[in-house]
Amino acid sequence: MSKIMMKTPLVEMDGDEMTRILWKMIKDELLLPFIDLKTEYYDLGLEYRNETNDQVTIDSAEATKKYGVAVKCATITPNAARMREYDLKEMWKSPNGTIRAILDGTVFRAPIIVKGIEPCVKNWKKPITIARHAYGDVYKNTEMIVPGPGKVELVYTAEDGSETREVVHNFTGTGVVQGQHNLNNSIESFAKACFNYALDTKQDLWFATKDTISKKYDHTFKDIFQEIYEESYKDKFAEAGITYFYTLIDDAVARVMKSEGGYIWACKNYDGDVMSDMVSSAFGSLAMMTSVLVSPQGVYEYEAAHGTVQRHYYKHLKGEETSTNSVATIFAWTGALRKRGELDGTPELCDFADKLEQACIKTIEDGKMTKDLALITSIPNPVVLNSEEFIKAIRTRLEGML
Ligand code: NAD
Repeated sequence: MSKIMMKTPLVEMDGDEMTRILWKMIKDELLLPFIDLKTEYYDLGLEYRNETNDQVTIDSAEATKKYGVAVKCATITPNAARMREYDLKEMWKSPNGTIRAILDGTVFRAPIIVKGIEPCVKNWKKPITIARHAYGDVYKNTEMIVPGPGKVELVYTAEDGSETREVVHNFTGTGVVQGQHNLNNSIESFAKACFNYALDTKQDLWFATKDTISKKYDHTFKDIFQEIYEESYKDKFAEAGITYFYTLIDDAVARVMKSEGGYIWACKNYDGDVMSDMVSSAFGSLAMMTSVLVSPQGVYEYEAAHGTVQRHYYKHLKGEETSTNSVATIFAWTGALRKRGELDGTPELCDFADKLEQACIKTIEDGKMTKDLALITSIPNPVVLNSEEFIKAIRTRLEGML
């Protein structure tokens, strides 16, 4: 069988710990035997980030801008314990944060649905994709403890020195206060990324804020989305047969619970943080969530939503058997390969991505799975496979389909 050819390389961002081990297994077993795999390789493993003073992360993001599609392995975000463990020169920033800042992207997370891993919410039949705005609000806030009676004001000083003031509160006792901001540019990028992704995946787009209470802040989000929709997307949405729908966040939550899924739910930063955890746990497992960063310029970076699975890695280092779920990491590769295929006009690559995804799903539906899924499946007597056996079982399925 001849291998599938690629025209443009993918930007490959290797990572850390157990996911780095899976990364190699996935390439060796599921990709290299079938594809003439072209990648531009960046090692985002913590050791090499430290060696290059994190320049490699910046280089990988710049390469993503150049080529348009990247696939990323999970990486360690250093903390004090990691500083000691890896003898780091500095507490390097989160690679995801650095890449997101360079690409100015929005993150879309969606569950991978298989029969036998049922969502807790019984009427959820299709994936719910959460789009989280990744800039500002409470994540870039300024806070104060108010020690006693006094006045707190918001003051805007324009470049010409003129001031605009709003009283936040006249305190008669102790309390707390918080200042938040966002930028129209960032909200516009967020909106465009959401509209583009909806068109790309042919799904309806929902957006919700609390604009009835927050008549300037949240209302600006609502207005920007509406203006961009009317100006640039209304006709395209009609053509694609999809809809854009705005509602209040409390109404959205109520509707989501009663829905069957199959749409994108765009969330402000905090709502997205909270709701993506709710959606992923209700759909079953973090190991079955995909994640893609989409920039307003149409650059894509695919990854798994989970971390480096540290606990399994330490077992692996001790020579013990692990049963780590590789599905989300495999889907990061298939997402990237499919997008590359679409951009390069190589349908064989898209077809391969579809088949590899089907092979993963069928393997699980046949009752062969890793331990995390065996604990929650409704399939009777599942066969629990170790990390390597699971990938080999997917390969066997894939070979039968090709
Ligand atoms: P984690 O996602 O690695 O693990 C959280 C829990 O989920 C663990 O109990 C783990 O056993 C389980 N789990 C996650 N993925 C699994 C899989 N594929 N198969 C089976 N079980 C799975 O998160 P953590 O333990 O909080 O973090 C470990 C490291 O990952 C940290 O250093 C953190 O900085 C990093 N991290 C990276 C990313 C990323 O690169 N996108 C995201 C989150 C955390």
